[in-house]
Amino acid sequence: MKTVVLKFGGTSVGSIDRIKKVCKIIAAYKKKKNRVLVISSAMSGVTNELVKKSKQISNNFSRSEYDALVSTGEQVSCALIAGRLTHDGFKSRSWVSWQLPIITDGPYSGARINKIVTKELNNYVKQGGIPIITGFQGINNENRITTIGRSGSDATAIMLAKFIKADECVIYTDVDGVYTTDPRQHNKAKKIKKIFYDEMLEMASLGSKVMQPTSVQDAKLNNIDIKVKSSFVNKPGTLITGSKKAFSDQIITGISSTKNDAKITIVGVKDRPGVAASVFRPLSRNLINVDMVVQNISQNGKDTDLTFTIKSDDLKKTEKLIKQNKSISYKKLSFDKNLSKVSIIGVGMITTPGITYRMFQALASKKINILVISTSEIKISVLVSSKNVKKAIAALHKEFKLD
Ligand code: ASP
Ligand code: MG
Repeated sequence: MKTVVLKFGGTSVGSIDRIKKVCKIIAAYKKKKNRVLVISSAMSGVTNELVKKSKQISNNFSRSEYDALVSTGEQVSCALIAGRLTHDGFKSRSWVSWQLPIITDGPYSGARINKIVTKELNNYVKQGGIPIITGFQGINNENRITTIGRSGSDATAIMLAKFIKADECVIYTDVDGVYTTDPRQHNKAKKIKKIFYDEMLEMASLGSKVMQPTSVQDAKLNNIDIKVKSSFVNKPGTLITGSKKAFSDQIITGISSTKNDAKITIVGVKDRPGVAASVFRPLSRNLINVDMVVQNISQNGKDTDLTFTIKSDDLKKTEKLIKQNKSISYKKLSFDKNLSKVSIIGVGMITTPGITYRMFQALASKKINILVISTSEIKISVLVSSKNVKKAIAALHKEFKLD
């Protein structure tokens, strides 16, 4: 007998009809003699509505009340699921996080799950029941409700899988898996059957929004295999795992891209210790996220050029901060907007030489200019003009035989 944790996202429970459909999926697992536990997100749009209400009440809404408020959508969807399963003749009931409890650490709206007390759940499951548990929330040591970040129900499911020692954690969503690249950007995108945690983390943090990076991190730390599947169509999904079993010899697993990047170059800054820190100190204080950073080798040993990227939204503020910065001197500032980062990702590149060359050659053959390059062990990123993104993805998808 297998223990499975099933998680349903907002669109999967987005209407009464969808909830009835989801109950059929749950029933199918139950009929196959699995022990089944369910985590549900709020019906789609509900959490956003609650956020909106908080803003109408105050533009400085209490942080603890905010969590008490925005966590309520999950109670509704869980009760509806449990109610429908009961209607269909199954033993089922809902649990709100504090009833277990799900214990969290850290700030309101950004708490992390520390522990899930599973005693009641275990008993209930043993008696054949199907518990339906609210995702996205817990309680802190002051017995107040916390939430764990938008889209946090994935993380709840993974932590439940850990504490209940589940054999499988299935994330049901509105896409049928993880794709080699965004299908809206490239019509030859293909579903990935298996992907390593680290690759998924890169894909997720680089703009493929199938799963929240922190949940993938949690799964990796706890070695929990995740299946991503669609609740809309019955098709095999994508397995996210750390196990090397049955991986193909694919070198590159996926290609991702970002939008709205901007580039800043500071020409002729002094080449001495502490200068880079002086440039970035005010940005960090103002919570501006710096992504790619390149410093040229100084020609004359005195000054150098420093280039970095940020989100376009932060460009004005960054420009101001640099101009106000009395601790640096430079010759010229230049800015560039409407840029995108295109990245190829794959653990295969660790052991395969020549990937960088093939990437650059493929882009060159399409006359795509590369502005900035950065690499990690399993990823190579290039910054290009946003108008070239589609072309770049198509060229790379073909070059690395993902078509
Ligand atoms: N309902 C929450 C949100 O919209 C949590 C989730 O969907 O996972 O962010
Ligand atoms: Mg959601």
